[in-house]
Amino acid sequence: MSFESLTSDFYGYENRLTDQEKELITQLRVYLETEVRPIINGLWANAEFFPRKVVTDLAAMGLFGQPWEETRRFENSAVFRGWVALELARVDASLATLVGMQNGLVMGSIAVAGSKEQREEWLPKLASGELLGAFGLTEPLSGSDAAQGLRTVARRDGDNWVINGAKRWIGNGSISDITIVWAKDADDGQVKGFVVPTTTPGYAATRIENKQALRIVQNADIVLTDVVVPEVNRLQNSKSFRETAAVLRLTRAEVAWAAVGNSVGAYEAAVAYAGERIQFGKEIGGHQLVQDLLAKSLGNITSSIGLVTRVSEMLDEGTQRDEHASLAKAFTTSRMRETVAWCREIFGGNGIVLDYDVIRYFADAEAIYSYEGTREMNTLIVGRAITGKAAFV
Ligand SMILES: Cc1cc2nc3c(=O)[nH]c(=O)nc-3n(C[C@H](O)[C@H](O)[C@H](O)COP(=O)(O)OP(=O)(O)OC[C@H]3O[C@@H](n4cnc5c(N)ncnc54)[C@H](O)[C@@H]3O)c2cc1C
Repeated sequence: MSFESLTSDFYGYENRLTDQEKELITQLRVYLETEVRPIINGLWANAEFFPRKVVTDLAAMGLFGQPWEETRRFENSAVFRGWVALELARVDASLATLVGMQNGLVMGSIAVAGSKEQREEWLPKLASGELLGAFGLTEPLSGSDAAQGLRTVARRDGDNWVINGAKRWIGNGSISDITIVWAKDADDGQVKGFVVPTTTPGYAATRIENKQALRIVQNADIVLTDVVVPEVNRLQNSKSFRETAAVLRLTRAEVAWAAVGNSVGAYEAAVAYAGERIQFGKEIGGHQLVQDLLAKSLGNITSSIGLVTRVSEMLDEGTQRDEHASLAKAFTTSRMRETVAWCREIFGGNGIVLDYDVIRYFADAEAIYSYEGTREMNTLIVGRAITGKAAFV
């Protein structure tokens, strides 16, 4: 299989990948085009989750647990992991979200905040796709202010913990095997993470209906009523929100990559349509104003790829800080929002019909824009770094 570079990668950033990484990206591209793209719009229309085979296929390609020592199949860089997110979102942002949750948020929580025994127990089963995980931080009354505002409480009772509270928006929450629940320790008031098997009595998840973005992701409202988990299920190194923040720091830049992938998907659909649709006796791609939309979209994509490439290199170098990832997320999601709107515009009326794909990229952009820190929150993190003053409240 030969490696064909992405034409929407105008400046050739892909060339920073190793030959082995390029080979894996090619394998992923072929899989996504043949196995995933044909079923996406049907799943999206019906708000239906991926067939479990898609999850195990991605696991077989080694896409879960990429950064973690216990489960890593090959040496890979943060730039490679970013390209994976881009390629997934280029076909479907819900799939990129699924991998980001399993690989980043769920496995990341256990890798960052779990003990050696917990890593050995949970990570291989998550890496193989045998277990599907969810990450439960957000609550009905606490979104952006999760660091201070969590109301879910865990109370120590001998060798067990009793958890009470509610969670909202939890991706996979109604279909996962385990959910990482972040709750405040009733004794010291600190946020700690717990691995909660979803069959535990008192765990009740309800799918959020009528969601009009990332419709394939099954987001849930979760109610936790006297949920008892043993002390061995408390992530042993999670002592405060600091560990939760460390997990989010690892995944935020990958969401920025997924935003670029979502833009690329819309842009490629628009380029193809502009070459087919005839108006005033020629392809609309031959009209100056349509070329303007395409050129601006490519500009957004190109500047965003440059930015996310560098921020991932910084992660590998050990120099990436919160504000670096936040700038990447805020910038690329803002550029994505412009790009998907311009690309949708190129389709005229057909741009709002699901069969032409572009409306899916347009709608999904709204969810990517808001999750893993809204633009405002990420902007405030950058603002704090610039001025030394926290302006959150
Ligand atoms: C599709 C999807 C999937 C998700 N998956 C998960 C998941 O798997 N696990 C999980 O835990 N969470 C998940 N979330 C939750 C997500 O992280 C939150 O939606 C996000 O953090 C924003 O919180 P909120 O929706 O409560 O909005 P709010 O915090 O209520 O914010 C509403 C608005 O007010 C603005 N705002 C708030 N505070 C300030 C301030 N100080 N200054 C300026 N503006 C402010 C925000 O930027 C936003 O525009 C998901 C959300 C979505 C939409």
